[in-house]
Amino acid sequence: MLNGKVAVITGAGRGIGRAIALQFAEYGAKVVINYRSSIGQVEELLTTIKNAGGEAIAIQADISREEEAKKLIEEAKKHFGRLDVLVNNAGITKDNLLMRMSEDDFNSVMDINLKGTFLCTKHAATIMLKQRSGKIINISSVVGLTGNMGQANYAASKAGVIGMTKAVARELACRGITVNAVAPGFIETDMTDQLSEKVKEATIASIPLKRYGVASEVANVVSFLASEAANYITGQVLQVDGGLVM
Ligand code: NAD
Repeated sequence: MLNGKVAVITGAGRGIGRAIALQFAEYGAKVVINYRSSIGQVEELLTTIKNAGGEAIAIQADISREEEAKKLIEEAKKHFGRLDVLVNNAGITKDNLLMRMSEDDFNSVMDINLKGTFLCTKHAATIMLKQRSGKIINISSVVGLTGNMGQANYAASKAGVIGMTKAVARELACRGITVNAVAPGFIETDMTDQLSEKVKEATIASIPLKRYGVASEVANVVSFLASEAANYITGQVLQVDGGLVM
């Protein structure tokens, strides 16, 4: 499905990014695993991929910093010779009610979730424009569509990712590059582990499929969008949310 494609996945040491990296490698892609700090999890992931016959390297970079985002993309290209797929997955939450949300908490969420997506996209596009092909997949959130209490910063960043996806999809379409977003609902990862049991029960009650999703269910959709089966899809937002938002 992704045979020989070179793919960069940001924030791929754990959670949804890790599941995407595993699936891409399984489908034959050459995977670049970006991580910010802890190499431990990443080494284990590299070993898992290599033991299964896949190909992957890891590159450390804080994607919210321009120099580091640039270095990530350039090193990936240098190592594998091209760049076919970029998955902007790295993201954080710093939840608080509006009146208690600090400027720092607002800025750090915007810097990583929105600006980081912009920086990686910009540097990847430099390569993809010359190649006249490429697929960019941005991980947004259903919260970017609906808003959510306590997440003014996160909802703004994820809504921003959707707007950016559509703008960039229009800019890059004439060179054969597609840009789409995936908007997960509640997925079992370290990010949702932070929620209290009470909140988890309440959210499950509101999900038509009555359960949280798992990371591989998001990866399934990302793999599709990264594949040639999705060549005629651009500027779209695909929800993976068990019917939560419809
Ligand atoms: P996670 O916290 O398990 O993983 C996020 C990863 O991003 C971590 O490995 C982290 O180190 C990395 N990261 C954070 N800042 C970074 C930076 N500056 N540079 C490089 N890497 C950085 O979370 P997850 O649940 O796997 O989330 C993955 C993506 O999916 C995020 O964008 C998140 O907003 C989105 N999402 C998750 C859910 C969910 O329910 N889990 C729902 C909707 C959207």
